[in-house]
Amino acid sequence: MHTIKDDRLRQLVTAIFAKAGCNAEEAGLIGRRLTDANLVGHDSHGVVRVPAYVRWLGEGKVKANQHAKVVAESDGFAIIDGQRGFGQVIGGEAMDIGIAKAKKVGVAMIGLRHAHHLGRIGDWAEHCAALGIISVHFVNGVHLGWIVAPFGGMQRRMTTNPFCCGMPVEGGEPIILDMATSKVAEGKVQVARNKGVEVPPGCLITSTGEETRDPNALYADPPGALQAFGDHKGYGLAVFCDLIAGALSGGGCNHDGYANTGSVLNNMTSFLIDPRRVVDANAANSEVTQFVDWLKSSAPREANGEVLVPGEPERRTRATRRAEGIPIDDTTWGNLVTCARDIG
Ligand code: NAD
Repeated sequence: MHTIKDDRLRQLVTAIFAKAGCNAEEAGLIGRRLTDANLVGHDSHGVVRVPAYVRWLGEGKVKANQHAKVVAESDGFAIIDGQRGFGQVIGGEAMDIGIAKAKKVGVAMIGLRHAHHLGRIGDWAEHCAALGIISVHFVNGVHLGWIVAPFGGMQRRMTTNPFCCGMPVEGGEPIILDMATSKVAEGKVQVARNKGVEVPPGCLITSTGEETRDPNALYADPPGALQAFGDHKGYGLAVFCDLIAGALSGGGCNHDGYANTGSVLNNMTSFLIDPRRVVDANAANSEVTQFVDWLKSSAPREANGEVLVPGEPERRTRATRRAEGIPIDDTTWGNLVTCARDIG
């Protein structure tokens, strides 16, 4: 295990993408966003992705130096084509377009299609919340094949379709819910497989539909599938992520009309609200803070336990890792170093 300070890691990743053909601003954004995912504890969406991103860049599956292209708009909405550009750039540009609209008319919808991997979706909710904007994001992924089975089904039909919401808190920290709709991320199954341990119950089924805790089932031939969290309810949310992200943005829902290109494109439909334009923002903020206090007044069920609100675990991990450095496992570090050497 290696422990690296976040600014050093960011510099390394930025340097790799600058060598790979991204301009300085884009390379810096990719370095910042990937490192940030590790900082908050979502290692599956951090620097572990660097070698694949670089490979996909070489194969033309992600394109350097692209920008969000508005293809249709009114005061209250925009449909944006990400042009296969890096999600780390396109995601922020799309949110800035939506934030400007929300500030003007109160509520805005942004249908973003054909962005390359958008990474940790919480980035976009945090970006909005920092500017006082409430946001709701529905996301799907297309062109990388499927991994999640529909509730009651055996075969894979969806991606891990993340859902995310952010609520700014005046004078406090934002509340950020950011989650895959699968019970666990695929990366966690890979880790369990590498360690030779079982996955938690309810995560996986075999290709013939039996529940299993054996991570190898996901990589068998024919492969098993991940399950949505929360049985039919989580499945229902996953369905709406695909519908709202895919159909409304024009980027497409998951079905066999799309070829597996071996590289993901994310679609994300976001609803952005400027509370100052639609309600008494001070009263709304007071309700938010009273509600959080109320939740936290519930006695913990476990000794030394604590009631947290969404976003708090990430904030705590960020503080710890910023102070102590980011732990990077040997395989990930080895791959990063090889990637850096190969690219010069
Ligand atoms: P997770 O299960 O670790 O966390 C989900 C949410 O639960 C977070 O908002 C977290 O703050 C909250 N939470 C966790 N513990 C809590 C507690 N004790 N009390 C209150 N709230 C708590 O996240 P995940 O589902 O494994 O997702 C990991 C990341 O993967 C996310 O950033 C997501 O956006 C990303 N992702 C991206 C894609 C993509 O296609 N770009 C696909 C899937 C997932």
